[in-house]
Amino acid sequence: MTSTKVESIDDSGDKVKVTVSPADGGDSKVLETDKVMQAIGFKPRTEGFGLEAAGVELTDRGAIEIDGRGRTNVDGVYAIGDVTAKLMLAHTAEAQGIVAAETIADAETMEIEYDFIPRATYCHPQIASMGYTEEQAKERGHEIKVAKFPFAANGKAAGLGETVGFVKVIADAEHNEIIGAHMIGPDVTELLPVLNLAQRWDLTADEVSRSIFAHPTLGESVKEAVHGIAGHMINF
Ligand SMILES: Cc1cc2nc3c(=O)[nH]c(=O)nc-3n(C[C@H](O)[C@H](O)[C@H](O)COP(=O)(O)OP(=O)(O)OC[C@H]3O[C@@H](n4cnc5c(N)ncnc54)[C@H](O)[C@@H]3O)c2cc1C
Repeated sequence: MTSTKVESIDDSGDKVKVTVSPADGGDSKVLETDKVMQAIGFKPRTEGFGLEAAGVELTDRGAIEIDGRGRTNVDGVYAIGDVTAKLMLAHTAEAQGIVAAETIADAETMEIEYDFIPRATYCHPQIASMGYTEEQAKERGHEIKVAKFPFAANGKAAGLGETVGFVKVIADAEHNEIIGAHMIGPDVTELLPVLNLAQRWDLTADEVSRSIFAHPTLGESVKEAVHGIAGHMINF
């Protein structure tokens, strides 16, 4: 299949005019439409701030190279947020700011584990994840256990009429520590904190499964998946 290159978008009139051409060359054509939705990536903007003159090291992607505490290679110069291109999200920038400020103040701090920063996509149904996929976990040498609970078996999801999706939890098989979670379904971004909390403090699925989750809640789907790792699910 030939991919298409967008050459320009003109939204100055009643309709939007999008000029496209085949990526491998050829004639361009103009598509006329009511609206255009753009879904593009972004990259750090680090030119023009004198970083080169200060000797601050950049990555291949033009991001500012930092260590786990936001320190650059130049003493006293710190970087946080999108310019570091770690995971270009608001909560990454906020967490980096806290760690960098604590480091500057010589206070107690905790380095960020970038693999476990929560990822949220606000489509419908929502998508949320943290940590490793099954493949990534195996690549890193983990023996894994996986449990997947469907929202079709969750009472709150049934009540909401939104039963599409699941909660999948990945744990290291040795101690059942939670190392990944992947969810699609109603408000699943709201289910990330319990999983991030468990991962950050090395809680095992067995420990999390001892917490009582209120009924009916979407969170019970996390409980069920975690029970699935620890032994067996209760309601599926
Ligand atoms: C459309 C869109 C949707 C997004 N949705 C989400 C989301 O749902 N969840 C999420 O977590 N993240 C989301 N993000 C990403 C999030 O906004 C960024 O990761 C976050 O804002 C990064 O924070 P920052 O402080 O690094 O940069 P910014 O928030 O961009 O702040 C940089 C600031 O520096 C200022 N500035 C720039 N140049 C100069 C200069 N020369 N002198 C002085 N000031 C300057 C800018 O004006 C700006 O105020 C979204 C981003 C976009 C573009």
